[in-house]
Amino acid sequence: SDDGLLGPAEIRTLAARLGVRPTKTLGQNFLHDPNTIRRIVRTAEVGPDDVVLEVGPGLGSLTLGLLGAAGSVVAVEIDPVLASALPSTVASRMPSLADRLSVVEADAMSVDLSGLRPTALVANLPYNVAVPVVLHLLETVPSLRSALVMVQAEVADRLAAPPGSRTYGVPSAKAAWYCAVSKAGSVPRAVFWPVPNVDSGLVRLVRRDPPDGSRKDTFAVIDAAFAQRRKTLRAALAGWAGGAPRAEEALRAAGVDPTARGETIDVGGFARIASARHVSHK
Ligand code: SAM
Repeated sequence: SDDGLLGPAEIRTLAARLGVRPTKTLGQNFLHDPNTIRRIVRTAEVGPDDVVLEVGPGLGSLTLGLLGAAGSVVAVEIDPVLASALPSTVASRMPSLADRLSVVEADAMSVDLSGLRPTALVANLPYNVAVPVVLHLLETVPSLRSALVMVQAEVADRLAAPPGSRTYGVPSAKAAWYCAVSKAGSVPRAVFWPVPNVDSGLVRLVRRDPPDGSRKDTFAVIDAAFAQRRKTLRAALAGWAGGAPRAEEALRAAGVDPTARGETIDVGGFARIASARHVSHK
């Protein structure tokens, strides 16, 4: 398009020139719709003061959009062919913005990005690892103040679900440890090449203070509570607490009804349960 963004023809030409055959294992579906790219950049609300962390820049569709809005972009790409091609793609399409980009060839799940002090995560995430990547980055990169991620529609529902809703579960409760989470729109599958077999959704996360208590202990309670979704918390947390009576004791100490189910408890409640077992064990 006129503003240098990549459309359908450009994406195919670029892929052919680089010999890229998109793989499912790496979740490679590339955006080829400039309107969607502009919409993501707008919804992310990034500005000149932001250092944007983009996970999985791929052929650079979103990267080009972000460079026009952010102070700088750090792009982390696991695929060596895509990582090494990105600087020249940007240099040829938006030469004046090329020095705002740095590319890191790495797995976003294992590289330490905290030293780069990114302020915002903006990413069209590979589907199969979207939730672990988001949680990992929120945990290990404290400078991140917000995130706007594109994930498959069902995962967007789960991440943003409030307690008591049908899709509330482990991803919702864990993401809520770090952030206020909300859905920010849906994206049809047709804007990707190749076309995936699901639609996508945008999720916005804004950092807030976590509940009091230990994150690890709280996440262990969340995992146990949802491992047996249909059971009462008293039963579901028996293994975690060392018996149903102990689970009941911790739940009462936390001010939680032992016959409630995990799907009704917010992250603050899970944190209180985790701390309560701690206290009753001392
Ligand atoms: N951002 C591009 C776009 O919107 O067109 C590409 C998005 S595609 C859904 C996901 C990208 O993430 C691919 O480029 C893939 O190679 C990369 N990727 C997959 N797993 C990754 C990981 N663990 N760390 C970093 N990048 C990864």
